[in-house]
Order: sequence, then structure tokens, then C-alpha cells
Amino acid sequence: MSDHTVLVINAGSSTVKYQLISPEDGAAIASGIVERIGEETGIVKHKYAGQEHTENLPIEDHGVGLRKVLDLFDAHGPNLATANVVAVGHRVVQGGSVFPAPTVITDEVVEQIRGLIPLAPLHNPGHVRGIEVARELLPDVPHVAVFDTSFFQTLPASAYTYALPKDVAQEFSIRRYGFHGTSHQYVSRLAAHTIGKDVADTNQIVLHLGSGASVSAIKQGKAVETSMGLTPLEGLVMGTRTGDIDPAIVFHLYREAGMSIDEIDTMLNKQSGLKGLAGQNDFRELLRLIGEGSADAQLAFDVFLHRIVKYVGSYMAVLGGLPDTITFTAGVGENTAIVREKTVNALSGFGIAIDPELNSVRSDEPRIVSTPDSTVKILVVPTNEELEISRQTMSLISE
Ligand code: ADP
Repeated sequence: MSDHTVLVINAGSSTVKYQLISPEDGAAIASGIVERIGEETGIVKHKYAGQEHTENLPIEDHGVGLRKVLDLFDAHGPNLATANVVAVGHRVVQGGSVFPAPTVITDEVVEQIRGLIPLAPLHNPGHVRGIEVARELLPDVPHVAVFDTSFFQTLPASAYTYALPKDVAQEFSIRRYGFHGTSHQYVSRLAAHTIGKDVADTNQIVLHLGSGASVSAIKQGKAVETSMGLTPLEGLVMGTRTGDIDPAIVFHLYREAGMSIDEIDTMLNKQSGLKGLAGQNDFRELLRLIGEGSADAQLAFDVFLHRIVKYVGSYMAVLGGLPDTITFTAGVGENTAIVREKTVNALSGFGIAIDPELNSVRSDEPRIVSTPDSTVKILVVPTNEELEISRQTMSLISE
């Protein structure tokens, strides 16, 4: 076992995901998930040394869930007492303007994260509970919060400001924050490395296409634009989220369809996107439906792709020219050659070209899939948010 390990915890509203990681060599030593917290029956899964252990039992709250996780380490290994856990890294979705960088958690920091709950009502309550319990259960190591929003705190005011009345925006902290920042940061560093450059010497566009999807423009290593806004609802078309829509649709649904604000919120976040258009938010299923000739699935794919192309084009304008790299990552970006091919083919007028053979290779390694004479290098870089959280945690506590 390696010298130092970090326990990475991602506590959601009804789940806790965790990984024990060695930040130096990037190995995930053990991982697992507690699901359906607060429901009649919960599920816990723990993976270690090639074995997966699953149990079904009621998990009343996050405290019970995390205690169960520690029991699983005891029962199935590795032994946390000898794993040399030097810190716990917590994923926190919304850090607002308060946290431009990872932060060692104190009582005050917990209160600040709690104070951001109105901006992230779906995410921050679970994070706060996870942090409180984990600090109680593992009191002898530092706990660090790593925020999805921090990487985008470098956006210029012209990019993060909504054209709303200034005092209203200020009073209610309304601005664009951006999300998936740990992924965009990790992937942009690795993309630079893959083309043999320092990230500070590159201009990049990163497409994180998972269930949630976002794109960022990165200038000399710093984020200057991203597609998600006050919440993760803005931007690209996603599994179940609309991405950009005319905000007047909300008023229209309220007035004409008689829907409540909560119903509209649920519809835009959970019943729209690919699912709303084609009944299917899993991209593999969407491709299967297209193969069967479904016109709805084909339209969903076309809308998804059109939005991506529109964003990439506008981000090239934001960067003032062609970037060094356009990188695909996350579930769809890493695994779906047809999305990469169609996106890049739509950009052929800029001299950007994909190599179909390289693009069809499946691999867990970062790789270049453009032709040698393409004006922009097209990359596929598998993301690893947990590893990035463990590294940021480690580097903060080693300062
Ligand atoms: P998240 O972490 O946001 O849940 P992921 O990055 O895991 O999302 O991406 C999930 C999406 O990736 C789903 O739409 C899934 O269908 C898609 N995906 C995962 N693996 C593949 C694959 N081999 N081929 C096509 N799509 C895939």
C-alpha cells in the first residue's frame, strides 16, 4: 500500500459515494456507495481488491450511512488504521463567491457552506451533513472541502454577470458560478500534458459530456467561460435537463399550463433534455433507439449535438481564435465516437479534422484523435474528479 491516502467523500441528498485514493500514483484502493438514505431499504456497496460486497439495510441518515462505511472497511478491508489516511476530501458542489480554492474545514467553514444552501438546495444540505458526520467519525485528520465552482472563479465579470437589475443580483447572489470545475481543471491539465505543453501555455475548450454536461473555455490555463450558470441547469442539453431555454417558457408554463413553480423546476431539471425529447436519458439507449429508426431519438441527438457545436463556435470567438485543443470527457464524451465525429465534422470549415481510426479506439488513456494536419488537436481525456479532489486535498494539507 502506498505511503499516503486520502478518503474522498461525495455526500448527496440520499447517497454517499466514497473512494480511498493514493494521490501520488492515482490508484483507487477502495470505493463504494451508500444509496437510498432515509428510505425504507438502503443499499451499500463496497469494492476492494477486486471484490464487491453489497448489503441491503435501512440507512436512516448520513450518520448511519458513514458509520456503515467505516464498518465495511473494518469487515472487508483495507484497514483504515494502517492505510495511512492523511486527510478526508469532501466534494462540495456550490462554493459561491466565498471559496475560490479548496479550504480546510473548520466550524466556520461548515457554517459558510450551510449559508450557501439557498444557492444549491439539492446539493449543499447533503454535503453539510456528510461533512459534520465525517468530522465526528474521523476527528484526527484534517478535512478539506473541494468546490465544483472554484475553478470558474477566474471568469471575468463580463462572462459571469447576468443582465439583471444590479441590486437584485447582488442581494440574492445571482451570477454565473459554473459547475464540474474539478473535472474541467483535471482534464485541461492532462490535455496540456498530453500535447506536451504546460497548461498555462494553452488555450482550450473542454466538453464534459456525462449525465450532466458542460463546456468551458480556458485561456492560458484559466477558465474564462463555462456553460453552467447560477445552477447546473444552464447550457448544453443534458440527460434530463433542458440546458438553455428562453426564460419566458417558465412564465408561459405557469400562466398557460397552470403548473406550479416547483413542478416547472422538476420538469426542467428531471424530465427534460434527452429524456424529455426521446424518453431516454441514457446515451447508450438513445443510440440503440436511433439504430431502430426512432425519429424522436434522432431529433434528441441532433438537438444535443447542435447545442454543442453552437457553444464550441462561440467559445472559439471568446478565446479570440482557434484553441490548441478541444477535449471530450465524461461518460458520453469518452465513450461515444459518433458524438466526437459529428461535432468535429461540423467544425471542418475551421480546418479541424478527426482521424476516424484513432477516434474509434477505446482506451482509458488520454489520447489525440485528430488528424496530423488538423488546426486544433482533438483529445479524449478520461476524467477523474475523485483523484483531482484527493490531489487538491493533499496539496493543501502539505502546504
Ligand atoms: P455522471 O457522472 O454525471 O452520472 P457519467 O460521466 O457517468 O455521468 O456519464 C453518464 C452518461 O454516459 C450516460 O448517458 C451513459 O449512457 C453514458 N455512457 C456511459 N458509458 C457509455 C458507453 N460505453 N457508450 C455510450 N454512452 C455511455
